[in-house]
Amino acid sequence: MRDFSTQSARPGVEREELEFDVLFVGAGPSNLAGLWRLLDLVEAHNQKPGVKKLEGLTFGLIEKGDEIGDHIFSGAVLDPIALQELMPDFIERGFPSEGVVTAEEVWMLTERGGLKFPVPPPFLANHGNHVVSLSKMCRWLAAELEDRAVAGVDVMLLPGFAGMKVLWEGDTVVGVQTADKGVNADGTKRSNFEPGNNLKAKVTVFGEGPRGHLSRELDEVLKLQAAAVNPQVYETGVKEVWEVPEGNIAPGFVMHTAGWPTPDGESGGSWIYAMGANRLSIGYVVSLDSKDPFVDAHLMLQKFKQHPQVAPFLKGGKMLQYGGKALAIGGWHSMPRLAFAGGMLVGDAAQMVNAARLKGIHLGMKGGMLAAETILEALQSGDVSETALMRYAHAYLGSWAGAELYKSRNFHGAIEHGLTPATALKVGLSLATSGWVPGSPLRFHEDAHATQTTEAYYGKKGLKRDELDWGIKLGAGGAITKLDDVYASGTLHDEHQPGHLKIVKGDHVCVTCWEEKGSPCTVFCPAQVYEMHPNEKGVVKKVEIAFSNCVHCKTCDIKCPEENVIWTPPEGGGGPKYTLL
Ligand code: SF4
Repeated sequence: MRDFSTQSARPGVEREELEFDVLFVGAGPSNLAGLWRLLDLVEAHNQKPGVKKLEGLTFGLIEKGDEIGDHIFSGAVLDPIALQELMPDFIERGFPSEGVVTAEEVWMLTERGGLKFPVPPPFLANHGNHVVSLSKMCRWLAAELEDRAVAGVDVMLLPGFAGMKVLWEGDTVVGVQTADKGVNADGTKRSNFEPGNNLKAKVTVFGEGPRGHLSRELDEVLKLQAAAVNPQVYETGVKEVWEVPEGNIAPGFVMHTAGWPTPDGESGGSWIYAMGANRLSIGYVVSLDSKDPFVDAHLMLQKFKQHPQVAPFLKGGKMLQYGGKALAIGGWHSMPRLAFAGGMLVGDAAQMVNAARLKGIHLGMKGGMLAAETILEALQSGDVSETALMRYAHAYLGSWAGAELYKSRNFHGAIEHGLTPATALKVGLSLATSGWVPGSPLRFHEDAHATQTTEAYYGKKGLKRDELDWGIKLGAGGAITKLDDVYASGTLHDEHQPGHLKIVKGDHVCVTCWEEKGSPCTVFCPAQVYEMHPNEKGVVKKVEIAFSNCVHCKTCDIKCPEENVIWTPPEGGGGPKYTLL
């Protein structure tokens, strides 16, 4: 099995062992909702007369960010269906809405203009939904959990702890080991060395987000993807939050676009969402099954912002925060097995995203809530076998969330090569037939396998990205550079630690990739972590990796065409500091 940790086993290191009944890994909306629901269920159970009470329980939640909310963001327009089920009084509890959608537009852009859809397609209808900062929403959910006391249960929220590897007993998951802290790049211990702990649990819920490294380990051991029609696939999204003069954007307004500047044959698009009267969220996504070796979400966003239809929204404003992140878009046909002995997958880690609606928060939250129901049964019976925990999977697939994902099961397959009259027809047909299209189920490949050589895509062998005219000036006096944006993401890592981006097949593979594909990692990374520096003879020997810039988007792990990069967690607490995204 591949080693998915940055750290070697460190024989002789004594590790504290902590016992939990349930351990949630990752503080996204799915796990936060799951923990809240589990507390509801225990409370309701213990209030029933005549039942054997559940007592002495310990529920834990770990998160690699320094604080809950630091590492998470989304567009985002929230369909509140799951939140309403979870917490009917969410508004009274101070839910941090950035505004309710009252007006929406969908555009097909051309380079200088565009065409507004007379009516938004039904899957992009958002009236009544809430614009949110997912970072703020997760902070709020965590604060609600911290304020909650349920008799018989201890809850430990543990930000700053990265799950490093899965703990196993045979084929049963029994928890995770957290990352060591205070280790030098050469693996030696510093004076502030703190060994990672073994966190043991009867049930471990993995909600690490897209392309979690623990989820990859689980798949490698348990073949969770084996029965899926399609592999897990992704987009990379980049987002900026701007402060703008009042009047630039009406509160309640949201806009989506397709077309320019996404190249023909590729799939991608944008959003602009009002966040109150003088802030807005603007972002761009590109599908990572792109054939283009120079696919670059950050560049698309910078071009998009200069479009005549878009620039007025930003005029006189300033960018406050930036982030980059992969998002799961495979949906129903890419879902892994959701449960296994001792554990479950929820949220983006399980592809619970409806790519047609550009939404997954509500689907992930429903996953966490249904996982909680099965966990309660498992705690009562003591049965954490795969058969017992698969009740969660059946409940999820049979729920409204499963029905929603099923209806959009062919969406990504229909549009993977961009929006054309033929793909629009397929999307229209799938709307009329609750998801069926000719050739259903539509199949697609791993994102990493799609990238073409520069010769195949651009007709020139050995082409480098900077040789092309991208129609935009970055840097002084021009659009925001990646390094400006990394600064605006608040990203920090302890630079003494071992690099967390592992080159697994060797530097020579990167050199061949530079020659044939122009090193896509130096282009798609939204934080300019990878660079190739040819010497005076034009020769490169290895890729330079500035790991401390990494915003943890996972794109390199997904899209390196040579599958030469594995993203592993740096020591807990490092990474971006999202507070508005
Ligand atoms: Fe994303 Fe990889 Fe770049 Fe980090 S190094 S920001 S995970 S592409």
